[in-house]
Amino acid sequence: MRRLAERPYDVIVVGGGNAALTAALTAHDAGARVIVLEKAPEARRGGNSRFTGGVFRFAYEGIEDIRRLVAMTDDEAAHLDVGRYGPDDYFESLMRLTGGQTDQELAKIVIDLSLPMMDWLRQIGVTWELVDHWAVRDGDMLRFGAGTVVRVKGKGVDLVRTLYEAVERRGIPIRYETKLVRLLQDDSAAVVGILVKDREGFAELPGAAVVLACGGFQANPEMRVRYLGPKWNTVKVRGTAYDTGDGHVAALTIGAQPYGHWAGCHATPIDADAPAVGKLELTDKTNRLSYMYGILVNMLGRRFVDEGEDFGSYTYAKMGDVILSQPRGAAVQIYDQKTVHLLEERYNTGAPVVADTIEELAERLRFDPAALQRTVEGFNAACPRGKPFSPGVLDGLATVGLEPPKSNWALPLDQPPFVAYRVTGGITFTFGGLKVNRHAQVLDTEDQPIPGLYATGEITGGLFYFNYPLGTGLMRGTVFGRLAALHALGKPLI
Ligand SMILES: Cc1cc2nc3c(=O)[nH]c(=O)nc-3n(C[C@H](O)[C@H](O)[C@H](O)COP(=O)(O)OP(=O)(O)OC[C@H]3O[C@@H](n4cnc5c(N)ncnc54)[C@H](O)[C@@H]3O)c2cc1C
Repeated sequence: MRRLAERPYDVIVVGGGNAALTAALTAHDAGARVIVLEKAPEARRGGNSRFTGGVFRFAYEGIEDIRRLVAMTDDEAAHLDVGRYGPDDYFESLMRLTGGQTDQELAKIVIDLSLPMMDWLRQIGVTWELVDHWAVRDGDMLRFGAGTVVRVKGKGVDLVRTLYEAVERRGIPIRYETKLVRLLQDDSAAVVGILVKDREGFAELPGAAVVLACGGFQANPEMRVRYLGPKWNTVKVRGTAYDTGDGHVAALTIGAQPYGHWAGCHATPIDADAPAVGKLELTDKTNRLSYMYGILVNMLGRRFVDEGEDFGSYTYAKMGDVILSQPRGAAVQIYDQKTVHLLEERYNTGAPVVADTIEELAERLRFDPAALQRTVEGFNAACPRGKPFSPGVLDGLATVGLEPPKSNWALPLDQPPFVAYRVTGGITFTFGGLKVNRHAQVLDTEDQPIPGLYATGEITGGLFYFNYPLGTGLMRGTVFGRLAALHALGKPLI
């Protein structure tokens, strides 16, 4: 068998996204000999991380913590309302959204290390900026959704570029088009390397520790059907084509413990004309996340969901599933002139259907005009009158006696022209993964660490069930990437 190295590496990192590169940089800076294996060719490196909006959710006490990361004058700071998003708030968001199922120990680790990770990424070279598209102007104040205030300047593309530059500056070897096939174990059942496949065929790579950071299984239709169900067979994939669950399969084969919500995933409303798999020119721009300022109807012209249940950052990740459950897995978002200016700028990448009457709109959408008319009339009649509409806060402007209700931001659709966007659900990443402990060690089905095996990022399970608070995916990968690398070197961070 061909061998890629005679001397075992201290750490082999499998994957080329945020979680992987964090582990590689951490291991190298702690003195280890590290190698990174990326399945994708160099031009398409970076996994889902490269497609992201670059939002990192972290706990902060107030504007001063934000100013540690983003430079601003006192005057600018005085016009920003970021609130407080303490560790207790972060914990509450996760528990509330996941129906209390989140692994509390893993959650607390992510939360407690979240602000230090922002500092670490800054030291690596990441530039932070304020998240504009979730913020809402209110008089002379700019109001931010709690917890989602800061993102990488240049989003996922620049996050990944910065991390690769840091890896390359350190001379850490990266092998592209080289994928994990199997984990190799010695007689004591410790992982001692991996079997890879590259352009020349199979080869062995010896290593004292292996960090699996090779993403979810969302780009694998067979695994999607097997674990998520038939509805997910032909779903559009928002991100990379390379996250096909290879790490899940390799680890489960040697007895790793499956953990978390294997039947669950993150899926959002996206442009109905989005490509079948994410395109690097579009990254996250196919998202259509301003539905809380209009109504969502299915192809029968009927509403089917509470568009204003909560802030978008707390509902968007489950909305894709809800849309895919509708006839033909599709829906239409409808706005009028009172709110259309609130649509986030990503809508510019799509072509709306516009009409002066609901009847005309229905015809252009090929809907039954009477059905859509009935829906809009019923909705309008249920909207409260005389209460203020306040985007950016849960304004309590709720429909009365309507099923399903719209719990906030319920303004009647009565100011033409009406503007409609066709959407479907797009899968972002899967929730089910490997069980890890507080050091990112992969556990076997008896809850014992598998010696030499670590995991971080999308491949791990236990944090997300049914829903997901925006910006937690990247943070989880960074936190456990650092924990994995340091524990593997006998220098645990916690
Ligand atoms: C459009 C979009 C927008 C998003 N926006 C945000 C956001 O703003 N904030 C946020 O927190 N999260 C966001 N997410 C989710 C986020 O992308 C993930 O949670 C995070 O990037 C996962 O990082 P990762 O390193 O675990 O996986 P990835 O970044 O997907 O990296 C996995 C890597 O493993 C490689 N790989 C796969 N199989 C193998 C193999 N067999 N051998 C070797 N390598 C392999 C892949 O090529 C890839 O490089 C978004 C996702 C998408 C798709």
